[in-house]
Amino acid sequence: MLTDLTLSEAQAALRAGTITAVALTQAHLERIRALEPDLHAYLTVTEDLALQAAEEADRRRANGDDSPLLGIPLAIKDVLMTRGVPTTAGSRILEGFLPPYTATAVQRLLDAGAVMLGKTNTDEFAMGSSTENSGYGPTRNPWDVACVPGGSSGGSAAAVAARLALGALGTDTGGSVRQPASFCGVCALKPSYGRVSRYGVIAFASSLDQVGVFGRSAADLAALLGVIAGHDPRDGTSMTLPVPDYAAALTGDIRGLRVGVPREYFVEGVQPAVEKTVRAAIDQLAALGAEVRPISLPHTEYALPIYYLIAPSEASANLARFDGVRYGLRDAQGALWPTYKATRGKGFGPEVKRRIMLGTYALSAGYYDAYYLKAQKVRTLIRQDFDRAFAEVDLIAAPTTPATAFRIGEKADDPLAMYLSDTLTLSASLAGIVGASVPCGFDENGLPIGLQIIGPAFDEPTVLRAADAYQRVTSWHSRRPPL
Ligand code: GLN
Repeated sequence: MLTDLTLSEAQAALRAGTITAVALTQAHLERIRALEPDLHAYLTVTEDLALQAAEEADRRRANGDDSPLLGIPLAIKDVLMTRGVPTTAGSRILEGFLPPYTATAVQRLLDAGAVMLGKTNTDEFAMGSSTENSGYGPTRNPWDVACVPGGSSGGSAAAVAARLALGALGTDTGGSVRQPASFCGVCALKPSYGRVSRYGVIAFASSLDQVGVFGRSAADLAALLGVIAGHDPRDGTSMTLPVPDYAAALTGDIRGLRVGVPREYFVEGVQPAVEKTVRAAIDQLAALGAEVRPISLPHTEYALPIYYLIAPSEASANLARFDGVRYGLRDAQGALWPTYKATRGKGFGPEVKRRIMLGTYALSAGYYDAYYLKAQKVRTLIRQDFDRAFAEVDLIAAPTTPATAFRIGEKADDPLAMYLSDTLTLSASLAGIVGASVPCGFDENGLPIGLQIIGPAFDEPTVLRAADAYQRVTSWHSRRPPL
């Protein structure tokens, strides 16, 4: 089946002329039609645009164009703006909003010839770990439709797992590409802060937000990252560093690579099957010649409390713009203040309101020093933990999440339990460094488990090399959900 190709295999087949972009796109659209009623991975399917783009890709190829993603069908998380195509960030407050411009990361994919299939479901404004906070209903996990796909980029992860796209973009503020990738048995990478432009990404927490990539192999991630990475004059935080050839980094050789295993990531509360499976994956890295050693990241336990100060604080400022005046929902009440109140009261869901209140409180006069400023200081300690670790090791390996996918509804009324599913991904976000998740096995219920590979800032090549070396000798990433 065409939808079973990996992105890299599809690139080769398109180049060889054994398949066309139109056939590949049609195969995906048909599968979307068949499976979307069960999964709800997409909020918008841009069928006509996709077919037009595919025809254009085939024409370009016939004229000798060999752009890297020419004719490759991809899915885009609905927090990335797409000109003229509805973009909601999973919120009712942006229902019907048509952006006047396209996010740089998306534009770079389109310029490289990619075919956008549609926009994927997400927790509202990327706040959540299950997509249950979407204003448009949850996405379901392709491995067990009674379970969540993770979040917030759950739609993108489910789409790639279910073969409803060859790859996808997500965003990761505290784990939102790695955690759903782990829950859905696919690969994802959160690049270093500053590696990919945030222009056109609907902001959640600006000092943490980063666009990430999903695929079914490390090679797929390398192909996507290579296209979207790099400086953008429209995002002052995007770095001017040159973009390495990520595909060339996949040598298969990790002999002598020093891999640290942080003791703080294997604590009580980690599901036994997760610990056992991740340890086996780390043994596999050792068998490939990596030097595995224990390390310590002593401030790990503070990641969760400080993330839930910093992220809501920044969110409370970023979300002030949804006021019923400039764009999106407007519940006019005559005067301005009642209009703000009615619009925001109706448009935002409960989790977003909770975060706006937490953040507004943490930033208010008298509390700023005690909460936000203190959290920023602890954030520095977390970064220093990694600096010290990376003086001794090249990479860090750990579970991506403490447990596998939970059932829909199971944690919906318990915000703290929900927040705890990010404990192992938050630190890399707070430190602004690289984090990837690759499938490494299944638990007793047949739900996927992810191996998290963390690397120093801007060392995406080494993270991808380790993931790829692991995939050359294992097949977990090739398993497909029983749909
Ligand atoms: N689940 C975390 C949160 O709710 C992280 C979300 C994200 O990375 N966007 O904030």
